[in-house]
Amino acid sequence: MSDWLLDLPKVELHCHLEGSMSSATVKALATAHGADWSEVWTGKIPDHFSFVDFPDFGRQYLFGLSLLKREGALVTAVDDLAAQLAEQNVRYVELTTTAYSHFLNGMPREQYRDELDEGRRRAAERGVEVSWVIDIPRDLEMPGEGVTVDYLESALTPNGLIGIGLGGYEVGFPAAPYADQFRRAKALGLHALPHAGETEGADSVRQAVVDLGAERVGHGVRVLEDHELTQRLVDTGIMCEVCPTSNLLLGVVDDIADHPLQRMIDAGLRVCVNTDDPGWFDTDLVTELSIASEELSVGRPQHLAMQRDATAACFAPADVRRRIVEELDVFERART
Ligand SMILES: [Zn+2]
Repeated sequence: MSDWLLDLPKVELHCHLEGSMSSATVKALATAHGADWSEVWTGKIPDHFSFVDFPDFGRQYLFGLSLLKREGALVTAVDDLAAQLAEQNVRYVELTTTAYSHFLNGMPREQYRDELDEGRRRAAERGVEVSWVIDIPRDLEMPGEGVTVDYLESALTPNGLIGIGLGGYEVGFPAAPYADQFRRAKALGLHALPHAGETEGADSVRQAVVDLGAERVGHGVRVLEDHELTQRLVDTGIMCEVCPTSNLLLGVVDDIADHPLQRMIDAGLRVCVNTDDPGWFDTDLVTELSIASEELSVGRPQHLAMQRDATAACFAPADVRRRIVEELDVFERART
């Protein structure tokens, strides 16, 4: 692990709170709950998770998420993640959380809000500013349901909410039918931050941009399959949130050496590097940045440029953003 990348002040724009739980946390919560995991894993809960494909990942992920309904578990999840982010000099994170799944598990909306607020307050004490993105899980919440956007319009949302996302399995669950939900969320002042171009190709990215008005695209790595659309993202400056290990483990790329991050940079796309689900994928931001250095030819100037660009593309309060830019200036003068 590079000391330089560890010391670099950082932001992370694509990380799922419910995906940040480590195997140890899942085991501890499952034991505390007396949970039955026989339909997810045979035998013991594994020390390291592995996935055949995205649906296989989804099954394991939803089991982990179901463990978070115990009172206080969400606060612990935010605080555990914030501790790790603070150690890695991550100053600001946009955390995606899937309200729909918690509500489906029976969590009251007040509990969800209160625990996110408390987790965010504790993260700030560690020096990590948190903003929330609440996503619609496209393979669970059908377009006609409106559960997530009804919640976003309620008075029970957490502090620091900045965006609506669209997560879950893209195949068979296109983005365009969610246009009305995104329109309603944007009317609340929320930013459009859907996943696209991960398990589906460029047309999925097109729907995210055209139909949902995406301001950044989660993943977006498959946009390169369409030259005209790639150019559109370049021209409009829509950033792609790239997550290398996630793409490898979920079969989006077969070999990390084939990951398109550098090709995306060469094409002129705005990109940032992220963890996606750090607990489930057994990774962290410094590891992902190290992979970009060692496997994908990303040099120090590109790393610095990506942090500056991610800071420009994030939706942090102005004072937080200004502080990070000043820190990057000091870091660059001292280290390069
Ligand atoms: Zn994601």
